[in-house]
Amino acid sequence: MKKYKVIIIGSGFGGQSAAVNLQKNGIDDFIILERRNFMGGTWCQNTYPGAAVDVQSLLYSLSFESYPWTRMFATQKELSNYTNHVIQKYKLEEKTVLNATVTQATWQATEKRWLITLENSNTYTTQFIINATGPLSTPTIPQFEGLENFQGTSFHTNQWNHDYQYTGKRVAIVGSGASAIQVIPAIADQVDSLHVFQRTPHWVLPKPDLKFPKFVRSLLSFKPIYKLARYATYWALESRVIAFKYSKFARDLFAENKARRFIKKSFPDPEFRKKVTPNFSIGCKRILLSNKLYPTYQKENVAFHTKEQAIQKITAKGIETKDGQSIDLDLIVFATGFDAETSIVSYRVIGNKNKNLRDFWREFPRAYLGTAIPDFPNLFIVTGPNTGIGHTSALFVIEAQMNYIMTAIQQVDQQKSQTIEVKVEAENTYTTMIHSEMEKTVWKTGGCNSWYQSKSGRVIAMFPGFSFTYYRLTKNFKEKDHVFE
Ligand SMILES: Cc1cc2nc3c(=O)[nH]c(=O)nc-3n(C[C@H](O)[C@H](O)[C@H](O)COP(=O)(O)OP(=O)(O)OC[C@H]3O[C@@H](n4cnc5c(N)ncnc54)[C@H](O)[C@@H]3O)c2cc1C
Repeated sequence: MKKYKVIIIGSGFGGQSAAVNLQKNGIDDFIILERRNFMGGTWCQNTYPGAAVDVQSLLYSLSFESYPWTRMFATQKELSNYTNHVIQKYKLEEKTVLNATVTQATWQATEKRWLITLENSNTYTTQFIINATGPLSTPTIPQFEGLENFQGTSFHTNQWNHDYQYTGKRVAIVGSGASAIQVIPAIADQVDSLHVFQRTPHWVLPKPDLKFPKFVRSLLSFKPIYKLARYATYWALESRVIAFKYSKFARDLFAENKARRFIKKSFPDPEFRKKVTPNFSIGCKRILLSNKLYPTYQKENVAFHTKEQAIQKITAKGIETKDGQSIDLDLIVFATGFDAETSIVSYRVIGNKNKNLRDFWREFPRAYLGTAIPDFPNLFIVTGPNTGIGHTSALFVIEAQMNYIMTAIQQVDQQKSQTIEVKVEAENTYTTMIHSEMEKTVWKTGGCNSWYQSKSGRVIAMFPGFSFTYYRLTKNFKEKDHVFE
């Protein structure tokens, strides 16, 4: 059985960031386990037409690795190139085992080590686990009646089948969220007909995207200017927290009114306007950015189906709707999102005293700094509960988590102990603070259901405040909140 000091599970930006930070801290005794047959996570997996980031690339990138971005919001292709650039530069392939799906991690109290079991029954032991399995990594498809009978082709946006030629085909897209709004304009002109099934409308704002002119790219090639532009982007986005948390007035003034005007300007037909206008506050669900979506909805070959015309069942030939339409189809694309609650940690974890993480999280997922859990020593969860951020780059939070994780590992080594475990009271105090702060936010008060919430109704995805507050918390390591053994 192979033994390591640290095992990282997942090779997306979370896993890459952990690996590079370990290297910078002089720890080379680690590996990355990745379930797919390629590395890279989100941007190497989500290759659907139109895929692109909705946070400015200067900020949606790792702080230690700048890049000659060609546009304000990188496309999937550019982000996958960036991901592979990071992987190659830091020689992470050598450190990665592919096709390694972790199915269980078990704490062995006597040895003070984790035992990791893979789907293929291989096992590893390690002192520390850094879990980076990504909350938006496991796609979900709702249980539509008759789905198994469909004789055409169907797939999830997360598993786009590039061998399938959609040109000239009759296509349905199920969903109208972040992935759907990118695919719809990207394929509408090539397909014969496109049926969009919207469950709930989302607030959409114009995307301030642009290709960087040559002189901007030349300017950005100077490190100090690149850094300054990244810094300016960070602070511009950070101000959005005021609207999300502290001021409905600011939210209406700067966002919701703008989105309403965008709808009015885009749709001459008042009936269509109603169909795409949400009945919840802007920001309650992720705000979507698109310049092409609304014009596409009004194309002749695009049919827009609201909740009242939703899918009743799927048949061998296509879709039957609640209002009695029978639609023949060649392709059904599910843009139906991810299992954000259970994929925070996508395998069984058995901690101290035989405790199962699923039981601890039965009511709702929770963790100290969204990262550490009592009775689960030496386990760190990247993008754990309440580390999501709606207003800025997820990578900022991932890198903030590294402050805490690296200090925790250093502390164990410096104290010549074997384990670090967060105290029950410390986790409890932190989680109570998070959910009390959450009460003021739009995610709690905005009147929507979203993947930000657990089945129990708690907002478990988002951090209720400024990202610099979270950063400060991760920088200020509190020894007294932990037990070392
Ligand atoms: C389509 C899409 C668009 C997005 N757009 C944005 C955006 O615009 N802005 C933003 O801030 N965020 C965005 N996100 C969120 C994005 O997930 C994060 O920004 C970030 O990429 C997360 O990195 P990660 O490493 O935590 O997870 P991932 O990139 O999802 O990586 C997780 C890795 O873990 C592996 N894995 C999972 N389970 C196991 C297992 N049991 N064993 C072994 N390996 C496993 C997976 O195969 C995957 O490679 C988007 C997400 C998606 C899906």
